[in-house]
Amino acid sequence: MTYVITQSCCNDGACTSVCPVDCIHPTPEERAYARTEMLYIDPDSCIDCGSCVAECPVDAIYSDHDLPTHLHDYLAINAAFFDGRTLGPVPRRNAVPPRVDKPLRVAIVGSGPAGAYTATELVAVAGPRVTVDIFDRLPTPWGLVRYGVAPDHLGTKAISRMFAELGENPRATFHLAVEVGTHVSLGELREHYDAVVLAHGAPASRRLGIPGEDLPGSASATDFVAWYNGHPDAADRTFPLTGSRAVVIGNGNVALDVARLLMSGPEQLRHSDMAEHARLALSANRLIDVTVVGRRGVLNAACSLAELAALDDLDGVDVRVDPEDLVLGPDGQAALAMDPILRLKYERFCHYGRRAATSPRSITFRFDSTPQLLLGEDRVEAIQFAHPSRGTEVLAADFVLLSIGYTAVELPGVPFDDRTRTLPSTGFRVTTREGEVLPGLYAAGWIARGPSGVMGTNKQDARAVVAAIVEDARQGRLRAPTAPVGTVHELVRARQPAVVTWQDWLALDQHELRLGNEQGRPRVKVVGHDEQVEVAHHAHPATTSPGVST
Ligand code: SF4
Repeated sequence: MTYVITQSCCNDGACTSVCPVDCIHPTPEERAYARTEMLYIDPDSCIDCGSCVAECPVDAIYSDHDLPTHLHDYLAINAAFFDGRTLGPVPRRNAVPPRVDKPLRVAIVGSGPAGAYTATELVAVAGPRVTVDIFDRLPTPWGLVRYGVAPDHLGTKAISRMFAELGENPRATFHLAVEVGTHVSLGELREHYDAVVLAHGAPASRRLGIPGEDLPGSASATDFVAWYNGHPDAADRTFPLTGSRAVVIGNGNVALDVARLLMSGPEQLRHSDMAEHARLALSANRLIDVTVVGRRGVLNAACSLAELAALDDLDGVDVRVDPEDLVLGPDGQAALAMDPILRLKYERFCHYGRRAATSPRSITFRFDSTPQLLLGEDRVEAIQFAHPSRGTEVLAADFVLLSIGYTAVELPGVPFDDRTRTLPSTGFRVTTREGEVLPGLYAAGWIARGPSGVMGTNKQDARAVVAAIVEDARQGRLRAPTAPVGTVHELVRARQPAVVTWQDWLALDQHELRLGNEQGRPRVKVVGHDEQVEVAHHAHPATTSPGVST
């Protein structure tokens, strides 16, 4: 018997440190961790103790006896990672990190995974006199857990259960619906705290820079994801869902989320926590094909094996790949021989490529296709690509979604590197553009390292940021706050009377769960910013237990 890590793995790595026989890899200390799609359990070494299950924040680990049928592929996926791989001894981190033994006030800007992991780490390891205030411009916490993770990936959203322990910690305080730069300046935060951690992410979408990109009917996947997840900034958006053909540019995990949700049936959507306006619109869409287009070849598809495999679960939808796109040269064959997970991903594409058509509805993969321009008079009608052997190709499209990644936006008063679109930093300490460290100012998550990695990657950032803060505090490198303890709360209330506290958020959370329960859904989200604040202030929580999805 063995345990198996499955689709919702967040790469948090908590499981690796409790395994008594070191059979979960790659660990955050191993080089392969930086590039891995998920973590894997070696079936030949697992002693079936079950310790990892309780540590996993997203319920991704099962005993092979209890593995749900739709996750059976993960037995082979876990085993494949260890195929021909020699693992050395697992490097161990210092078990007792240094602490600070005097009061230390830390502000964190952003309550998404980077901010939440940093706050969790601070209260857990930095010392009992450390307090943390978390600011977020939205009335709801957890950022992309609520507004970025696909609404049908409820397992992944279970990480919010772990973050919610912060709300019960007397040393952590939430100031939601408070925007740094509007309600309180960064300079003011620096007066009130020993250290400020910027963890506000990379919320904007990158552009292709080709003609026709701004035609009606073309949109960024970032905006579409925000819309279907009920982000207050996207509540009023509309998308052309009445046509028959959509094209998604890019083939990363967001592109596959979008394609899968566009082709999901009403019953599948009902079991998600998708915002109601989007669920109704998507349930009624008439798309017959979503084409997912990558610039490079099949072996460079940016999606994970887990997301690719999840397409198999769609009812009444064929997944198609042109067999011509699956032909590999000697370099491709050599790459497959070196990487068993890549081999499984390629085999999955081949499996889709071999299958006979059974349904009029499909998701179609195209590779080696560089978008050149979007065509149409007053709205998108087609998209033109360049292909290395087929030349120029034109594909009809009623709806084009650009899924080519996120980018950060500048925060007033903070240095910004236009080239990397991140904050200039060294060891997570923010610097000037010339590289001079700004004492007491730190960065974590996408704003520090760019929009890459998965949710659990932020845990490693959090450890590094907290280690830097503790070291700076112990070395006397932090300026003591000039404002008296606690006065920031009066300042925030005076500037933003609609501030949403942790108790307010619990009221909103339970309101949404209650609505979901009444309608047979996991949750029904309140969408507008003002509406969220209104419900948060006037609904009353019956208990303090947080929901799973957000
Ligand atoms: Fe390691 Fe025990 Fe989990 Fe197996 S069940 S992977 S031995 S912690």
